[in-house]
Amino acid sequence: MSIPEQDDTVVRLRGPLSADVITAAAEQHGVCVRPFTMEVTDSDTGSVRHVGVPCGSTVESVCAPCAKKAKALRMVQCREGWHMATEPVDRRGEATADQRALVEYRADLVAAYRESVENGEAGEADELREEIRTVDGELHASGMRGRMPNPDGAGRRAPKRSTKRRQDVPDLPRLKVAKRTVGREYAGAYRPSMFVTLTCDSYGRVRGDGSPVNPAAYDYRRAARDAVHFASLVDRWWQNLRRAVGWDVQYFATVEPQKRTAPHLHAAIRGSVSHEVLRQVTAATYLQVWWPSHDEQVYGRYRLPVWDPEEREFVDPDTRAPLTAWADAVDQVEDPAHVATFGAQVHSKGILGGTEESGRHIGYLTKYLTKSTGEVVEATTDAQRAHHERLHAELQITPCSPRCAVWLLYGVQPLGVTSKTVPGHCKGRAHRRSTLGLPGRRVLVSRKWSGKTLADHKADRVGFVRRMLAAVGIAKPERDTSRLVWRKLAPGDTSAPPRAHLLMHAISERITWRAEYETALLAAQPPPGESNLSATRPMAA
Ligand SMILES: [Zn+2]
Ligand SMILES: [Zn+2]
Repeated sequence: MSIPEQDDTVVRLRGPLSADVITAAAEQHGVCVRPFTMEVTDSDTGSVRHVGVPCGSTVESVCAPCAKKAKALRMVQCREGWHMATEPVDRRGEATADQRALVEYRADLVAAYRESVENGEAGEADELREEIRTVDGELHASGMRGRMPNPDGAGRRAPKRSTKRRQDVPDLPRLKVAKRTVGREYAGAYRPSMFVTLTCDSYGRVRGDGSPVNPAAYDYRRAARDAVHFASLVDRWWQNLRRAVGWDVQYFATVEPQKRTAPHLHAAIRGSVSHEVLRQVTAATYLQVWWPSHDEQVYGRYRLPVWDPEEREFVDPDTRAPLTAWADAVDQVEDPAHVATFGAQVHSKGILGGTEESGRHIGYLTKYLTKSTGEVVEATTDAQRAHHERLHAELQITPCSPRCAVWLLYGVQPLGVTSKTVPGHCKGRAHRRSTLGLPGRRVLVSRKWSGKTLADHKADRVGFVRRMLAAVGIAKPERDTSRLVWRKLAPGDTSAPPRAHLLMHAISERITWRAEYETALLAAQPPPGESNLSATRPMAA
């Protein structure tokens, strides 16, 4: 037995062990366990250092500290808007420097895209289009709202709609919607708000574990389509509710899967609405989906349409006849492909602000936000597993949007089809086994809820801690970061320190920070004998 061999063993054993220990310590101190490494160069001095940037995951099993922080922020957002007594100020109109830069970049991309289309450079155009889509995603992630103009320009045909195809008007009172977003005050003191739960319709009787009593009779097609269109149905519900009550109702809502895997909605609504009105609006709300019919599959696993590079479209593999283009397929629609409705059950409850009950309901609303959909509806019985498999199979042949590659299975070319489109394979979340069709956005917040973005709420928190520390003489000046050049490290870049070093550094920073914060908290507490009044306003001193 030689010593070097022994050393190797020790190193092999110690490596993963110490990484586990460091990760556990990071979790304990609330430090991100899987930070991205950024290289930061000071353009004045030329010095380079590496900084760990929190991963920002919202899923606890991925990164518990980041997920807990994200959830805490959502709770703050929910609380701030729920019982607001004055109209929030909308600060979202102002574009940030990042957004302006992205919009300029997008304009350049669109110009290049149009040029390549004109020159017939198909591959180049496809890539540019993909990049434009990525930029749009970044713009939306940065808090920008609304749809960006179509890169193909206004030349795109607007679908012709016959009067027959207009969305039917639900049988509800229709009032003019006033600008007011805050609820009424009762008896000069009480300003109740609502907690509401909406469910999907029934698709067949289910057992206690959510699996169907009779799987053969369970309507999986309707279940899949309702799940795909749930978010749009919910949007329609808010519109109908606002018209029925005559004011601009605001909400903070979360979408969660029920045991039977159908989505349901929990919503905090600002202001009070009678249960009867909520019930009427729910019963009268429906969504007609004016998409091409997709009841009969034309192609399947063994026979798929093929791409014709000359004509730049999908054609039948045998006859070479082109598949119906999206615009033509939409023009031919006579009846809605699907009509989504809610289930008859509506739960609603009036809740007063600042009460134990309101805190408990904010807890319900945000309870599952740190879990992925698959973790919320974990299958533990064979019947549940079979139920999930069957629903997933249905979702794989259910188109999720006009751009969905699943359309090709029904003989229709989706919007924006390219040589890279793979028939039946769409990356949309709706088709993934882990989501079971639940909408991608699990938190739905109306525009005038708190008058703040999540970034604003985060900045509030940082500012609060800064002021707290400043009050006890610990100054944390805002550093001038304009000279710093940030670069994300490519995977496998060996110039960066190992992740363990970044974690250790972050942990030690956190310990220092916490010590300072606790000093500030102690200092803010009144000396014994002073009234509670001063304790509630430590910053005023
Ligand atoms: Zn993290
Ligand atoms: Zn899709």
